[in-house]
Amino acid sequence: MKDRFTPDFMFGHYWEVTPSFLAEQGIRALLIDIDNTLAPYEMPDPDDRIRAWFRELDAHGVKTAFVSNNHPPRVERFNETIGIPAYPDSGKPNRKALLLAMERLGASRDETAVLGDQLLTDAFAGKRLGLRAIIVPPIKDKTNAFFRFKRFLERKYIRRYAKRHGREEWMSFWKI
Ligand SMILES: [Mg+2]
Repeated sequence: MKDRFTPDFMFGHYWEVTPSFLAEQGIRALLIDIDNTLAPYEMPDPDDRIRAWFRELDAHGVKTAFVSNNHPPRVERFNETIGIPAYPDSGKPNRKALLLAMERLGASRDETAVLGDQLLTDAFAGKRLGLRAIIVPPIKDKTNAFFRFKRFLERKYIRRYAKRHGREEWMSFWKI
């Protein structure tokens, strides 16, 4: 149970998740969060860097899908120029959308990872299915009390990751 919130990998930015890293880990399918993982809430369309990253993944045979807790208009517009399977209103940490996405991509659990910015939704949703969880710090966090409380809950799992992987710099990065 306790390890279901602890990410398997952490990176400073989504673009550091490269095809070669994924290949080394045997990850062939990526279920990707949008808000604060790829773009801040107020960015409606992907920028060139995001689209180039998707092209790169595609060129190396990495299958991708969006699994987002945001609503269909946001997800559909963001996906307009990318055009991958997309599951809005996914209700992460609910598992259902992740399972549908994996089925659609024809990917098994051991070759699939989730990529997101939140331990309690993105990492937990994936890890309870036995997927690997790749976490990046939120691009631009909301500052309301609920989000601050969630970040507070995440701290000990970030510490655990940092300690396990000898990445103490993560603790300052996450303002812990
Ligand atoms: Mg997010």
